[in-house]
Amino acid sequence: MTDTWWCEHAWLGGDSVADGVLFSVSHGRITAIDTDTTAHPDSNRLRGLVIPGLANTHSHAFHRSLRARTQRDRGSFWTWRDLMYRAAERLNPDRYRRLARAVYAEMALAGITSVGEFHYVHHDSGGARYAEPNAMGHAVIDGAAGAGIRLTLLDACYLSSGPDGAPLAGPQQRFGDGTGDRWAQRVEALRQQVGTQPSVLVGAALHSVRGVPVEHMPAVVEWAATNGVPLHVHSSEQTRDLTAEDIADLDRTATGVCFCPPTERDLGDGIGPAPALLAGRGLFSLGSDSHAVIDLFEEARAVELNERLASRTRGVIAADRLLRAATYDGHRALGWAGAGELVVGARADFVAVQMDSIRTAGGGATVENVAFAAAAPDVTDVVVDGRAVVVDRNHVTVPDAEVELASAIADLMNISAEAAR
Ligand SMILES: [Zn+2]
Repeated sequence: MTDTWWCEHAWLGGDSVADGVLFSVSHGRITAIDTDTTAHPDSNRLRGLVIPGLANTHSHAFHRSLRARTQRDRGSFWTWRDLMYRAAERLNPDRYRRLARAVYAEMALAGITSVGEFHYVHHDSGGARYAEPNAMGHAVIDGAAGAGIRLTLLDACYLSSGPDGAPLAGPQQRFGDGTGDRWAQRVEALRQQVGTQPSVLVGAALHSVRGVPVEHMPAVVEWAATNGVPLHVHSSEQTRDLTAEDIADLDRTATGVCFCPPTERDLGDGIGPAPALLAGRGLFSLGSDSHAVIDLFEEARAVELNERLASRTRGVIAADRLLRAATYDGHRALGWAGAGELVVGARADFVAVQMDSIRTAGGGATVENVAFAAAAPDVTDVVVDGRAVVVDRNHVTVPDAEVELASAIADLMNISAEAAR
């Protein structure tokens, strides 16, 4: 069966926008694109400027419970870290399922059609295995399915609390599998349970250089390579972690990078070397990480605006390159090569951005207006694989997303529902 979607304007790549764009969609894929057409009464109609689905390549869903709370007492790094561990301690599969569904609904409402969940809370308190060792992973998968977005579950190997191999302690014990091989056994079981699905991919992650002793890394790298799935790592959490030699290595190996500027500025981490990395051969993607905000337009423009502050020069990275990072590059970084661009054969992900809202009015239907003026609330409609997930700013399957979010956070943080409202 073929559906048609008619768009007032659509960004088909580069810096130009086409008008009156008619997409034919069959089995979730774009089968034809016609431009300069007039609206047809039988077509689904999308107003504003339609862009491909946004990809959020780095998420820790449960960190959403920390938003605003970590700013108290001046919000030092330790305020943030203590609260993160408190939330991690109280997570269980049921709480995680509810919270993930609500957080992913917030993402869908912001135009995000694929998320990479960097998942490291695997086990029960003290590191005890659940009866189903992947109960937490399944909770995240259920959350994404409930919110109607595509998920790459980046299952993270996390074995030690320091580069010297010191054991995990306290709440960190929930993160550990003991060895790289035991991590691979657990994740292989999850991969087999999930099987081949159109919306879920099990990928791999090394939590960090300090979190995985070098002798355990090959098991993770080999598992990812054998299965042809993405492998992610927290490689540079401080500016001093990324040297010129590292940048050359990233280029030589075509390794992609993910920037998370609102989280980086929230944590006081500094500004990464975006121009050098963009000039390399790797993908350049964006992630909301700790979810200080969930707004990929804000993430995208922050890369350029941070660079302006650092270099005192305007116009380093063009608007269409920023949007490409948020769509095309991001989807490839998550292993969804068929998504993130509006071409024949691609997955039919459409994100309609209002071009006459109070923020965007007067700027026209341009990529610059989307990249530099639009915000998540300007997303009106979201289609994933040809299915409407957000219609007129309402989430189709999670209609009271903000109520669900507040209640899931209150439960996780052990506070009254009133306090979370
Ligand atoms: Zn992270």
